[in-house]
Amino acid sequence: MSCTRLTAACERIIKLFVSPGEKMTEIYYVKKVVRIEVMDILLPVLIFITGLVFGSFFNVVIYRLPREESIVAPRSACPSCGTTLKPADLVPIFSFIFLKGKCRYCKSKISFRYPLIEFVSGIVFVVLFLKYGLSIEFIFTVFLMSVLIMVFFIDLDHMIIPNELVIAGLAGGIVLFILRFFLYDSLLDGAAWYSPLLGMLVTSGSLFLIALIGLAIYGTDAFGMGDVKIFLPIGLILGFKLALISLIFSVFIGGFAGLFLIITGLKERRSHIPFGPFIVSGTFLAILFGHEFFTWYTGLL
Ligand SMILES: [Zn+2]
Repeated sequence: MSCTRLTAACERIIKLFVSPGEKMTEIYYVKKVVRIEVMDILLPVLIFITGLVFGSFFNVVIYRLPREESIVAPRSACPSCGTTLKPADLVPIFSFIFLKGKCRYCKSKISFRYPLIEFVSGIVFVVLFLKYGLSIEFIFTVFLMSVLIMVFFIDLDHMIIPNELVIAGLAGGIVLFILRFFLYDSLLDGAAWYSPLLGMLVTSGSLFLIALIGLAIYGTDAFGMGDVKIFLPIGLILGFKLALISLIFSVFIGGFAGLFLIITGLKERRSHIPFGPFIVSGTFLAILFGHEFFTWYTGLL
């Protein structure tokens, strides 16, 4: 592309950001472009990096919490050779790439899961920022999804959802509940102050009932008590409408994924598939599209 055509293309893009009344001198263009870059590029990049750093912490919790090890001490060590890792070995994603996925000291392979969880956390943070901007909603949905990212991988590995994560989620939920009660009750779901209480009761309650019925009929529970409990913080933070949609999405995704795994022979019909990862995916989709889904669905009725 020639230089002048490039400039023309740039100008066209810039014009999109300049409202009709504004005077468009060259210096004005430059200022405008700088502002657009700071707001639209720098901030999401910073949020992404923050997500990576948090993801690195989630890795520690995912590894240690089910093994009942402290999540603050000792410092991270290579699981193969036990060498304490230096800060340069712990830079999210970059250390993994730089070390070509091998321990600097014993050359044993580092699981691809570590950079993956960091990357996923970064993406989740940015997507929620793009959805909510810098707001109270952003802080609490990031908080909930952070807890749920840890739930996703711990349940996948160990088929448990640790109570510690449920309690951490509830603690954040209580803070939001108090904020809703005293500031504005329409935070996140635009409903009355008691909507989070309904959300907890209905989602957690119905899963509990399904688990009881399953236990009575088949002698085995379709959901673990962890699945029942994790909907308490989801309900408390998202409120009734979004929590219910989260449950519906989770059951649908779980159902389709279960069917797919059985048809492709990846899982036996009787084998246990952890439900936590589906709850996490369903909740993320509910946070992103729940309100739109609700409007669309009630439009059909
Ligand atoms: Zn090592």
